[in-house]
Amino acid sequence: MVGEERRYEFTWDLLGDLELGRPNLGPSVSLEVYRLMQYCMRDVLEQQLGTEGADRVFYESGKLAGMKFFENVIKGCEGLSQFVAAVQGALKELKVGIFRVERAEPEKGSFVFSVFEDADCSGLPDIDHTVCTYDEGFIAGLMEAFTGDVHDVKEVDCWCTGDRTCRFAVERV
Ligand SMILES: [Zn+2]
Repeated sequence: MVGEERRYEFTWDLLGDLELGRPNLGPSVSLEVYRLMQYCMRDVLEQQLGTEGADRVFYESGKLAGMKFFENVIKGCEGLSQFVAAVQGALKELKVGIFRVERAEPEKGSFVFSVFEDADCSGLPDIDHTVCTYDEGFIAGLMEAFTGDVHDVKEVDCWCTGDRTCRFAVERV
């Protein structure tokens, strides 16, 4: 992209004025079409960039989204419990999932979070790998925006691996 003008740089304005734009249908859309877009985009990304490349795009996209979500929705939080409460409330209200903290060692920057009824994977068939790469990035972005430190996030259990919840191991880098 060096020297090229950006066409698609994300700004929060791209979420649009939904009261103006969707007076009849409102701000929600069916989860099926969200998943249709996500899993078709992932198919094409994998064909063009390979599995690792596609995962990297999903993780980095999630991370950008997590940073912007923190800036625009979560905003200022004093301390971990305020942060957790704000994330829990926002993700539930937006029907992304039910966020819980299973383990927290803030002094080490080490956490385990779980998300029940995750929008990306809940109800998918059992497969032999986790799928919530975007969510890994999203949590990494939230954590980085909140703490100022880079965090590595790995999904260790997923609906798709038979666990009926998504569980994320979070480590400060
Ligand atoms: Zn999952």
